[in-house]
Amino acid sequence: MKTRGISILGSTGSIGRNTLRVVESLGDEFLVVALGAGRNVELLAEQCARYQPELVSVGTEECAELLRVELKRIDAAPPRVTIGEAGLVEVATHEGAGCVVSAAVGAVGLVPTLRAVEAGRRVALANKESLVIAGELMTRAAERSGAEILPVDSEHNALHQCLRGERREEVRRLVLTASGGPFRTGTREEMERASVEEAMRHPTWQMGAKITIDSATLMNKGLEVIEAQWLFGFGADEIEIVVHPESVVHSMIELIDGSVIAQLGATDMRHAIQYALTYPERRTSALAPLDLARLGALHFEPPDPERFPCIALAYRAMRAGGTAPAALNAANETAVAAFLDRRIRLTDIPRVIARVLDAHAARGVTDLDTVIAADAEARQHAGEVIAELSSAKEPARSLPKATHAD
Ligand code: MG
Repeated sequence: MKTRGISILGSTGSIGRNTLRVVESLGDEFLVVALGAGRNVELLAEQCARYQPELVSVGTEECAELLRVELKRIDAAPPRVTIGEAGLVEVATHEGAGCVVSAAVGAVGLVPTLRAVEAGRRVALANKESLVIAGELMTRAAERSGAEILPVDSEHNALHQCLRGERREEVRRLVLTASGGPFRTGTREEMERASVEEAMRHPTWQMGAKITIDSATLMNKGLEVIEAQWLFGFGADEIEIVVHPESVVHSMIELIDGSVIAQLGATDMRHAIQYALTYPERRTSALAPLDLARLGALHFEPPDPERFPCIALAYRAMRAGGTAPAALNAANETAVAAFLDRRIRLTDIPRVIARVLDAHAARGVTDLDTVIAADAEARQHAGEVIAELSSAKEPARSLPKATHAD
C-alpha cells in the first residue's frame, strides 16, 4: 500500500486529535507531513515528537517561541515553524500532502481550506464554516482543480454514504438529524437562564466549545443545512431537519419513490474521519460496532421553531444567498464568543444574529474579498448589538457564573 501524506489544520482540537488516532490505527497508510494549530503549543509539541511533521504552524510569533522552548524541553526534533494565516495556508498546501484535514474552528479555516481546494487536494472537511461563508467559491474552485471535498461532519458524511450510487434526479430530499442538544426538553425560561456549563452539556457528542454551543441553540443544524446545500447541490426546500435524540441515525435521504436510506453508526467521529481519508475504499475499524438490540428504541420529533429560532435564521440567510450566510456565520461566532465570556445570554445569540441579518444587504459572491468584507461588517455590527444587550439589560455580573473553572 502506498503511503499518503496528510496535513491537519487544527491538529490540537477534537477532530485533529481524533484524526491522528485514526492515522495511527491505519498503520503506515498515511504519513503526517504538516500540522496547523493555534495556541495549544504543549500538545502540538507532543504531536511533533510523536509524528515528526516536516512543517507546523501556530497562531502567533509568541506561540512559535513557546513551541521551540517546549520542543527543546522534551528533546524533540524541531520542524519548520510558520505562523498565522500564512502559516496555515502553507500547511494546507504542503506539496507532500495529498489529503488535508480541515478542522480549524470558525472563519479562520476559510482561506487555508480554499487554498487546499484550489491546489486540488482531497479535503476532509470538518470546518463547516468555510462552506457556509464561501460555499460558492469553494465548489467552483473544486470543479476547476478537481479537488474532492469529503465531509467529516457526521451528518454530511452519512449523506455522502447514502448518496453513493444514487442519481441526483432520483433523490427527493435530504433529512439531517439533530440530537436536540441539552435543551431539547427544556423550557424557554430554562434557556434564558442557562449558564455556560449547562449549555456545554451535550447529550451525545464530545466536541469543542463553539460547536457545542451551536448545538445548544441548534444553529449547528442551521449551518449544516447550508453546508449540505453546497456539498450535494440541494435547495432550501429539499433539506429538512428531524430531531433524533440518540444520534444513531446520522442522516437520511428520501428518494422519489418514497424509499428512505439512512446511515447509522456509533457516535464516534473516528468513523467519519476514516471514511473521508480512505474513500472510496473502506478499512476495518477497531471501533465498537453499533448494538441496536441493546439500544432498543430510536426516537424522532420535529424541531421546535419557538425555542430554536436559529434554524429559521439559517434558512432565511440561505434563501437570501450571496453574502447573507457569511453575515449569519460571523454574527453567530461573535455572539457565541460573547456568551462564552458571559456577556450575553444563550437566548441573546439568535437576537444578535437577527439584528445583523435585518441590517445586512446581501451581495453576490464574486471573490474572497466580498466575503471577507461581509464577514468583518457583520462582526462589527454584532459587537455593537452585543454591547447594547449587555448594558441595556442586567449587568453582566448578574449572569450565571461558572461553578468550576473552565
Ligand atoms: Mg454535525
